[in-house]
Amino acid sequence: MNSIDEWVDQLLHTNERAGVSRKSFLRAAAVGTMSTIAAACSTGKSTGKKGGPAPVSEAPTAGQPSSETVAASPAMKPQNTTNPEQPVKLEQWKAATERQSGPTPTPMPPDKRVGYAIVGLGHLALEELMPAFAQCKKSKVVALVSGNPEKMLKVARQYGISEKSCYSYATYDRLKDNPEVQVIYIVLPNSMHAEYTIRGAKAGKHILCEKPMANSAAECQAMIDACRKANRKLMVAYRIQYEPYNRLVRDMVRSNQFGKTKTIETVNVQNSDNPAHWRFKKKLAGGGALPDIGLYCLNTIRYLTGEEPTEVFAYQSSTPGDPRFKEVEEMVSWQMRFPSGIITNCLTHYGVHETRRYRVMAERGWIGLDPAFSYSGLKMDVAFAEKKAERRENVSLPDVNQFAAEIDHMSECVLTDRVPFTPGEEGLQDQRIMEAIYKSAKTGRPVKVPSAVKATRGRTASVATNKLDQFRGPLPKNE
Ligand code: NAD
Repeated sequence: MNSIDEWVDQLLHTNERAGVSRKSFLRAAAVGTMSTIAAACSTGKSTGKKGGPAPVSEAPTAGQPSSETVAASPAMKPQNTTNPEQPVKLEQWKAATERQSGPTPTPMPPDKRVGYAIVGLGHLALEELMPAFAQCKKSKVVALVSGNPEKMLKVARQYGISEKSCYSYATYDRLKDNPEVQVIYIVLPNSMHAEYTIRGAKAGKHILCEKPMANSAAECQAMIDACRKANRKLMVAYRIQYEPYNRLVRDMVRSNQFGKTKTIETVNVQNSDNPAHWRFKKKLAGGGALPDIGLYCLNTIRYLTGEEPTEVFAYQSSTPGDPRFKEVEEMVSWQMRFPSGIITNCLTHYGVHETRRYRVMAERGWIGLDPAFSYSGLKMDVAFAEKKAERRENVSLPDVNQFAAEIDHMSECVLTDRVPFTPGEEGLQDQRIMEAIYKSAKTGRPVKVPSAVKATRGRTASVATNKLDQFRGPLPKNE
């Protein structure tokens, strides 16, 4: 089965009730009725014919005898009342032409979920991750680690976490005595990722680590080695790779939906402030815009194509005298060359107003996400030639909490003993490429990305970088 099939399967999983066959989805997608199909997938309702609008006759109309509606209602059908993995079915009340709600979530009972310790209670942890756990089905927060006890106790009370499960950075290693904690989620400044991953693995815990994985390829390798030695899983939190729009673009690229992809243009820029923040300290952040937000351009292109760049060429600059950029760069603009011939243009910047988008340009059309890398509200457009006209379509998918999807993938890997889709090797490869980008900007010359090497039985062996998805685990199932 190829990847677009898998994607369609995933869509049709929520769409089993919809009666849109995979064949009709693909045909519709090819002729440009993506928006209709995507809407059908999100509503879970049949389009009635291939790619066309749902027949109105299917909708329950006002004035129909209520017994007819009730008789057809799923609520009246026998339900599996014991299996919590089956959604609770509710009686339909909206017309088939309308966007439907549901299915109801299927959370695991709390005592069966994988327990997490969150390390570092800053913006990402408190604004995004802690709330996202409420949408997780397989994961729960059971412990906190922070250097600020007052803040930590407040958060512990807010989320019902026991005071006994609150640790400082000094007592972090005592997590090994807390059997409730299976995974440590590291949400610290970049320079601290390596140390806390290695100590966490030694404490016998699996590790979910925020991006960028670390500040150097050597640190990344040490993290991988420590987790391997402790027989623990290591995943890098690349949320974009667990997000449905990017997944759909990936499947369209891999299946040559609009012919061969020739080039991809990506931009991830924002205006940052507060020179005292760790993001502007080279020792803590490792770099400026590139490892923080430019990484999304780099990692997403690798994810969409499955290919690994063989060469990069970069420019870097910072506004002279700007206190933010005494130690780290303001902007990097770079190109990457891939084995298939794809050449990409990427831009990251810390000093201009927010833009987070990409466009994949293929022989017969383009696919664009704008925004592409935001936490929510992603928007997708496609354009392709149709005889003398150009068709432009908007594709709309149901919203998914990217953080919950990513965290539940880690839990699924722990529960089923699988390699994460974005393991440590994926983060290490990004780090190698970023090091090549910085080298190119410094020397003013194109820089070859070295072939990856990985340890095999005490030796090092080259890994062929022309293999697709060289550094990823198996594709996430429909989680
Ligand atoms: P933040 O500054 O808001 O939080 C960092 C936390 O680390 C704070 O609670 C701070 O007190 C603590 N900390 C411990 N030691 C510190 C030290 N020596 N200096 C400074 N802070 C220290 O940062 P954030 O935005 O939450 O980012 C945390 C990590 O998450 C980073 O690696 C970042 O790249 C990553 N991140 C990922 C995403 C994503 O979408 N996946 C988004 C934002 C941040």
